[in-house]
Amino acid sequence: MRQPLVAGNWKMNGSRASVATLLDGLKAGVGEVRNAEMAVCPPFIYIPQVQEALRGTAISWGGQDVSTEASGAFTGEISAAMLLDFGCTYAIVGHSERRTLHGESDELVAKKFAVARAAGLKPILCIGETLEEREQGITEQVCARQLDAVIELEGVAALADGVIAYEPVWAIGTGKVASPEQAQDVHAFIRGRVAALDNAVAEGLRILYGGSMKPGNAAELLAKPDIDGGLIGGASLKAEDFLGIGLAAN
Ligand code: PEP
Repeated sequence: MRQPLVAGNWKMNGSRASVATLLDGLKAGVGEVRNAEMAVCPPFIYIPQVQEALRGTAISWGGQDVSTEASGAFTGEISAAMLLDFGCTYAIVGHSERRTLHGESDELVAKKFAVARAAGLKPILCIGETLEEREQGITEQVCARQLDAVIELEGVAALADGVIAYEPVWAIGTGKVASPEQAQDVHAFIRGRVAALDNAVAEGLRILYGGSMKPGNAAELLAKPDIDGGLIGGASLKAEDFLGIGLAAN
């Protein structure tokens, strides 16, 4: 049985005060979430505050990105060891905003996956097609290419240490959620591609859906057999909404 994971990507949002309020709300309500593992990925600068508040609770935390480098002259970068130093469990790699706005290639993302994994973090690998690619009918090719970059670098067994988030770019932050059937089709494709190489890894692999998931649409997405949780942007910024998605996994 794969335990659902509901992970919040706070992106570049928050202040010390709003983070404190959000964390208080999460701590107060997480006891109701029985089925899903909950995690938050704050901006790097708030990770110490999150660690302080969430230590000893059922909620884990992670970074929104990680450097491919270990240390040294890499201005602005944060290493895997630094994330571990502040108790992180997860590191998101290859979010579409990093791929698009920062020009991250499949190869760079695969290297980030490898570095995070080698350090003992669980990488959350984001993959997904743009609207144009969906309209061209190449959704599966795009997802396969992004996934294969990791498999080629690390081997399929490496996926056992990570999580995949299928995030159609056209659904991220747009309010346009993929239908449960659309999402399930791609999730089944991803699992099938992994299963062709290693069935046990595929069976254990958590594949999250991301893209305008909210308490109101989460239950029907999470009911699909290959959807094992969510990567949540906007709705992770309000405790009630984020917990509502965790409750939908009950
Ligand atoms: C995301 O940024 O990963 C995401 C899924 O955002 P949203 O939930 O706001 O669409």
